[in-house]
Amino acid sequence: MSVEKYIDKVLKQTAQQSPGQVEFYQAAEEVLHSLKPLLERDSRYDKYNILERIVVPERTIIFRINWVDDDGIIQTNTGYRVQFNSAIGPYKGGLRFHPSVNLGIIKFLGFEQIFKNSLTGLNIGGGKGGSNFDPKGKSENEVMRFCQAFMIELSRHIGERRDVPAGDIGVGGRELGYMFGQYKKLTGKFEGILTGKGLNWGGSLGRTEATGFGSVYFAEHILNKYGDTLKGKTCTVSGSGNVATYTIQKLYDLDALPVTCSDSKGTIYHKKGVDLEALKAVKEIGRKPLTEYLKLCPDAEYIPVSKYPEDGHACWHIPCDCAFPSATQNELTLVDAKALVKNGCILVNEGANMPTTPDACSYLMKNKVHFGPAKAANAGGVATSQLEMSQNASMSNWSFAEVDAKLHKIMKNIFDISYETAQEYGCGDNLLAGANIAGFKKVADSMIDQGAV
Ligand code: NDP
Repeated sequence: MSVEKYIDKVLKQTAQQSPGQVEFYQAAEEVLHSLKPLLERDSRYDKYNILERIVVPERTIIFRINWVDDDGIIQTNTGYRVQFNSAIGPYKGGLRFHPSVNLGIIKFLGFEQIFKNSLTGLNIGGGKGGSNFDPKGKSENEVMRFCQAFMIELSRHIGERRDVPAGDIGVGGRELGYMFGQYKKLTGKFEGILTGKGLNWGGSLGRTEATGFGSVYFAEHILNKYGDTLKGKTCTVSGSGNVATYTIQKLYDLDALPVTCSDSKGTIYHKKGVDLEALKAVKEIGRKPLTEYLKLCPDAEYIPVSKYPEDGHACWHIPCDCAFPSATQNELTLVDAKALVKNGCILVNEGANMPTTPDACSYLMKNKVHFGPAKAANAGGVATSQLEMSQNASMSNWSFAEVDAKLHKIMKNIFDISYETAQEYGCGDNLLAGANIAGFKKVADSMIDQGAV
């Protein structure tokens, strides 16, 4: 059977076995198609049915979460933990609390995580979890009770050598704190079963900043390869959460000018540069909508989502040199990609997971826009989570500078391996193909070594 037929066969089976899981299928399609040059050179992946095996999670846990709201009413949510692949290490990947969460979303994130974790060069497998619980509009006590109820079930499946979750959309330091406290209460053990922990109770300096900082380091490595830098570049950033905030901070450190941020309701365009302190005060500390930013910075412009045409997002229609999608999946569409190219954008670097739709991605590449794929560009978060695990295991604490230096080195290695692999397999400077092939190869070879398990 030709390699193309093999890939199509597995994708067809995947679609049949996971009906309605559109985001998962999108992620599987992107990865599998990009593996063609590797599969053509090495028939072992077909011989050992690696594609068939790698698209199926090792374990999928779905559970009911009951918790009591402030009115004394029992509420019900669904919880997920997908333990996707442990060929190279314990499962590792975040927890997402957002009303849009379903099995397909968690599987797409878990699948991407396998290859991302592999690219870091560290021994971590892929997993992901979360719930359709919406922390927005809930009181502190409601969030705490939900997190405690979630951990009652999750605690049975995690462990520092088994599965180590972290944060993602809707799960930050506050939620991780409530979950960690509950795990300790249930088991009587103080263990590194989560990363992104508070600094007083086992967290690592630099973890909060890591995904955003790492994303900017990756973008800088891309530009450096072509004799350029971020210095003086006007940048658009979407999102206003953890990844977006620290992307903006690092862009300033490298003398670039970030001019936008956004949330699910609208975009801030601040031509003289996003005011980082105002942004943190509104979102990170205040947990308020971005309209509040205008009260602190009245010279900024606010563009509500409702004012923008379908399939387009205000962020990507504002002229920029470099774009950093850092909010959520499929937030940069073909309409947006065309606007970016028209306005002279030279780089799109994915801070969020799968933020660029496949047609937008092809359009950007065809138009010679440098493209930093999520698996590589946002791997700094999980890499620093592994550094937190190392510190926990050795009961040591590293300085911010030590962690940041390690992060910088890891991002350089990820860039180098993605670039070199793309070259080696005849994919030119296509970092998406290079990252997929390099990430896959290490996991697939380990699966072959370990036999039919
Ligand atoms: P946060 O919850 O801190 O922030 C998410 C941001 O995205 C918020 O500004 C939110 O707006 C916005 N957002 C969420 N959903 C939508 C939507 N449907 N439309 C528009 N905006 C939306 O999450 P993170 O910053 O941690 O995560 C952002 C992305 O980065 C995700 O794709 C995540 O998977 C990825 N990522 C995160 C890592 C981490 O270490 N945190 C590591 C690697 C990847 P609002 O405030 O209105 O909800």
